[in-house]
Amino acid sequence: MSATAWKPVTQKDRFEQECCFQALSSTLQRMFFLLPGMILTLKETGLPKCVLSGPPQLEKYLEAIKIFSGPLKGIDLAVRPHSAPEYKDETMTVFQIPIYSERRGEDWPSPSPERLSPGRSSDSGAAENEQHLLDGNPVNRTAQASSSSLPEVAFLFSLSQLHVKKGNFLVLKAKELGLPVGTAAIAPIIAAVKDGKSVTYEGREILPEEICSPPDPGLAFVVVECPDEGFIQPICENATFKRYQGNADAPVALVAHMAPECVLEDPRYQQWMERFGPATQHLVLNESCSSVHNLRSHKIQTQLSLIHPTIFPPLTAPRCQEEHAAFPVPTVRGECLLKYQLRPRREWQRDAVIVCNPDEFIAEALELPNFQESVQEYREATKDVPASAAKQYPEIVFLGTGSAIPMKIRNVSATLVNISPDRSLLLDCGEGTFGQLCRHYGDEVDRVLGTLAAVFVSHLHADHHTGLLNILLQRERALASLGKPCPPLLVVAPTQLKAWLQLYHNQCQQLLQHVSLIPAKCLQKGAEVSSPAVERLIGSLLAACELEEFQTCLVRHCKHAFGCALVHASGWKVVYSGDTMPCEALVQMGKDATLLIHEATLEDGLEEEAVEKTHSTTSQAIGVGVQMNAGFTMLNHFSQRYAKVPLFSPDFNEKVGIAFDHMKVCFGDLLTVPKLMAPLKALFAGDIEEMEGRREKREVRLARAALMSREQAAGPEDRAPLQKRALAEPPPSPQSKKVRAQ
Ligand SMILES: [Zn+2]
Ligand SMILES: [Zn+2]
Repeated sequence: MSATAWKPVTQKDRFEQECCFQALSSTLQRMFFLLPGMILTLKETGLPKCVLSGPPQLEKYLEAIKIFSGPLKGIDLAVRPHSAPEYKDETMTVFQIPIYSERRGEDWPSPSPERLSPGRSSDSGAAENEQHLLDGNPVNRTAQASSSSLPEVAFLFSLSQLHVKKGNFLVLKAKELGLPVGTAAIAPIIAAVKDGKSVTYEGREILPEEICSPPDPGLAFVVVECPDEGFIQPICENATFKRYQGNADAPVALVAHMAPECVLEDPRYQQWMERFGPATQHLVLNESCSSVHNLRSHKIQTQLSLIHPTIFPPLTAPRCQEEHAAFPVPTVRGECLLKYQLRPRREWQRDAVIVCNPDEFIAEALELPNFQESVQEYREATKDVPASAAKQYPEIVFLGTGSAIPMKIRNVSATLVNISPDRSLLLDCGEGTFGQLCRHYGDEVDRVLGTLAAVFVSHLHADHHTGLLNILLQRERALASLGKPCPPLLVVAPTQLKAWLQLYHNQCQQLLQHVSLIPAKCLQKGAEVSSPAVERLIGSLLAACELEEFQTCLVRHCKHAFGCALVHASGWKVVYSGDTMPCEALVQMGKDATLLIHEATLEDGLEEEAVEKTHSTTSQAIGVGVQMNAGFTMLNHFSQRYAKVPLFSPDFNEKVGIAFDHMKVCFGDLLTVPKLMAPLKALFAGDIEEMEGRREKREVRLARAALMSREQAAGPEDRAPLQKRALAEPPPSPQSKKVRAQ
């Protein structure tokens, strides 16, 4: 939700060329889910400094996310303590008002770290690995240990007050009065009248209201979060808010309430809302608000579903909730890009609110050259593939197929494997995975969360694991609403994940009771598992997912990065690479896989960049599938530079497909997936052309650079023939530069 009139303040400092981003995050929970991605996005925009305001635990939390976020280097993160005096710039003053729950101290039994690490005592490598992790960043172990006492529960509220805005100088009126408009003499006159002072010009007194519009009063607006009933009384009694209710110096134009319906329905809370007076607008932001927030994702999915409506199922419409609290004051439910203008006139503005019209998207696609023909040809070519009436399992749902940072069309890594109608498993769980599940499954999302038996986290880059916390909490909520028990979720992950979960548990909210962590290294071939507890967990993992084998191997990416292979009792084998360069261990582990899901971050020709970033190119990933003798290779984890579609490689064959967010396939679909290429090329012709243009330019640049360096190496008499030869050479083909899998 955003109401741009009061979104976080961005202030550019022209002199120091430093930009300061003030973000006010009210609860630590919200930050855990959203902050890492937001910071990565801000960093992408070139923001050098980000100042965060928030609850007391914010600083420790920031330390924690720095542990896992190598990519956060390059942006200076600072924290403004919640007790700091108000923030002031040329537009407004922002007050932070911490509120403490009445229930402070309740419901916070001591955390039990053992719960999370069944193998702690015997898993000798864990301590060593963790130490390595902590070596990289000075997180104080004793600080973590001591924080197992009850955290201070505080929520921050922001009250912002716009400064009084001076009136505008009325040029025409000044001219009428014969003032020296357009000359240097007018400057002191303007300054004086804007300050509300009279001036004397050529013996005549001129009042400010004669040549200046009246000043705009200092309005205030409030952003308040009340996560549960425990905060209602403290909010109602808060002295700072009381000052702005009734006859305040600055009238409150808008109060934005981040509060669930149960709080909004509470008579005490409604009375508090009323006390701001009839002129104050109220904005509700909670789960009852429904609006399309990502038009591009809806558009692409609608168009893809024209090609194949079950492989690319249309996204679900936003949930509509009928039961809303009724309010005694003017209240608006939030929508994406809804604006409230504070100046010059106070009003709601809906011009940017997204309206989703699928018919338009369809019409646009049908007009594309060759699109309809290629879809027709695709249907012809696949009409002999037997369409199974019954749903087939496993069913693979790609929830996030982009790398690094979440973007509109491709979210970060997450793949749902529906093993059977009531068993599923997630391969990685990047930020926003829950949101993707909601968009894919709509009202079915709770049922799907209820089937989730395990999560595999390949490595601890932010694009692979930061969605896990929300999945854990939402799964707990979903199971409770279904009236089912909530056994711990089995999470196969590098041991280092433990520290991160522990920190959240200690600082913010209990969740360790919902997790059973199986160190990924314990599932490596030949690994000795000396802990009976871990052994038991592995047993329940295999049983829960109906697997004969769940194997992991170290891959060539960052430290502690794993790939995995799942062998089902019925014989199918799914192999997932995580992030990696071509990796022999993965090839060995994945022999004869039914399906390989392999990262293909970069296009062919970018082998050097791929090595630098420890990723694979398209043809390298396809090569790994060939070496593995995989029945099918599905490429994913594309660099976000390929927003809609990656560049196709000449190595594409009938056993290769590319993944899209929300694409859903079963093994029976794999025969037809390669045939999707022609309609996909028609749908994305414009984007492909643009990317090919970039590639051509790059190749010309490389050829020139090579020529220059050869010229420098050669003597002057050799130069002419060399030049001729270089120009006659075709640009290097992707194959010739291919780095072989090792
Ligand atoms: Zn990644
Ligand atoms: Zn990575």
